[in-house]
Amino acid sequence: MLVFKFGGASVSNYEKIKNVGEIIQHFPNQKIMVVISAMGKTTNALEKVAEAFYAGKKEEALELYRAVKLQHLDEAKFLLVTHFNPLMVQLNDFFTEVEWLLHDKPVRDYDYYYDQIVCTGELMSTAIVSAYLNEIGLKNEWLDVRDIFRTDDNFRDATIDFNFTQQQVTAQVKPLFDDVDIVITQGFIGCTDENESTTLGREGSDYSAALFANMLDAESLSIWKDVKGVMNADPKQFADAQYISELNYDEVIEMAYYGAQVIHPKTIKPLQNKDIPLYVKCFADASLPGTVIHNESVKNLPPIIVVKQNQVLLQLHTKDFSFIGEQPMSDLYEMMAKLKVKPNLIQTHAVSLQLCMDDRSDKIEKLALAASQSFDVQVERGLTLLSIRHYNNDLLEKMTSGKIIELKQQSPETVQVVMK
Ligand code: ASP
Ligand code: MG
Repeated sequence: MLVFKFGGASVSNYEKIKNVGEIIQHFPNQKIMVVISAMGKTTNALEKVAEAFYAGKKEEALELYRAVKLQHLDEAKFLLVTHFNPLMVQLNDFFTEVEWLLHDKPVRDYDYYYDQIVCTGELMSTAIVSAYLNEIGLKNEWLDVRDIFRTDDNFRDATIDFNFTQQQVTAQVKPLFDDVDIVITQGFIGCTDENESTTLGREGSDYSAALFANMLDAESLSIWKDVKGVMNADPKQFADAQYISELNYDEVIEMAYYGAQVIHPKTIKPLQNKDIPLYVKCFADASLPGTVIHNESVKNLPPIIVVKQNQVLLQLHTKDFSFIGEQPMSDLYEMMAKLKVKPNLIQTHAVSLQLCMDDRSDKIEKLALAASQSFDVQVERGLTLLSIRHYNNDLLEKMTSGKIIELKQQSPETVQVVMK
C-alpha cells in the first residue's frame, strides 16, 4: 500500500489534474490511497466566504461562493465528458449544503461556520479528480473522509480521535481496496460525533496523509510538490539553494520547528512511529528521486537555512530587579498557552528575559499587556529571525553582515539570530 498526497498547487487547474493521472499511471498494480487538498487558493477564497457570512453580508458571501463554484465547474468541463453529469450531482450536494447555511443567520461561533464552509474545498477537488481518473480508466473509489476521521469539536484546529479513526480505517477503508486499486479522499478535514465538519488547521493535508499511512501500515508516503525535493533554503529567497536527497525524521522536525515550510510539522510523528519513509517528490517530473525522509542518520548535511520575517521581540524586565523565578516564568507560559502563541526563541537572564515570536498583533498586544503586571515590557517589531542548522562561521558572518543583531543563541549544531 502506498499513500500519495497532492497539495493545492498540484490540482490547481485541469492541466495539473491531468498530471496527477499521469503520475498515478507510473504505479500500475499498486494499491494507492490518494489524499488531496483543495484546488489552488480555494481555501483562502472559502475563508473570505465565511468571513462575509459571519459579518452578516449574506449577498457578498453568496457571490463569493458562486465564484468558487464556477471555477470548479469550469475545470470539470475541461476534464470530463461521460463522467460530467454524475459529478454535477455530487458537486450540487456540496453546493446546496453551503448555500443553505449562507441563507441562515450566524448563531454559533465563527470557527464552526468556517469549518462547515471551508471543508467543501477538499470535497469538490477530490470529487473532480476522482471523476477524471475514472474517466481515463483509472478505476477508483471516492471516499468522504468525514466518515473516517473522527475529531473533537475544536473547530479550525480539531484533534483526531486516534483509536476511533483507526477502527474506521480498518473496517471501512481497507475493504475498499478489495475492489479497486485507488481510493481518493480529502486531506485537512474530519467530523465530530455529531456529524459536524471540522478542519485540522491550515496546511493540514500532509498530516491527514501521514495518519492514513500509519493506520494503513503503508510502505511509504509520497508528498508530490512543485519542487525537486527538500532544499537547504527557500529557493525563492536563495538562488543557490541546494537540493538534499536524504534526511532524518528528527532533522525535518527541527527544520519545521524553526519555520521551514517543508512539511507540516505534525506529519512526521505518525510516520516515525511506524518507520514509514516519507518521499518528497517532484510533481513536474515523477522520474526524479526527490528527497527521502526516514529513520537513518544522515551525515554531512549542508547548512540548513530558515529565515522568518515579521518577528517581534518582547523584552521583559522585572519591575523591582528581583530575579526571574519559577512563578513569573510559569505565569508567562500560561499566558502564551491561553493565547495560543509560542515563542520562536526565548532567552532568560537574571532579571530580564527576551521572547521572539511571530507578529500576530492582536495576540502580542494581549500578551504584552498581561506581562506588564509583573514586568516592564518593551516591544520591538519588524525583525527577522535567522536560524541555521549545521552552520559554519563564514556563512553566519555573511548572512548577518550589515545587520543589527538584537539577540543570538548558539549551540554546536544550531545558531539563531534575531536581527534587523
Ligand atoms: N487546503 C488546506 C489549506 O490550504 C489544507 C492543505 O492544503 O493542506 O490550508
Ligand atoms: Mg496546500
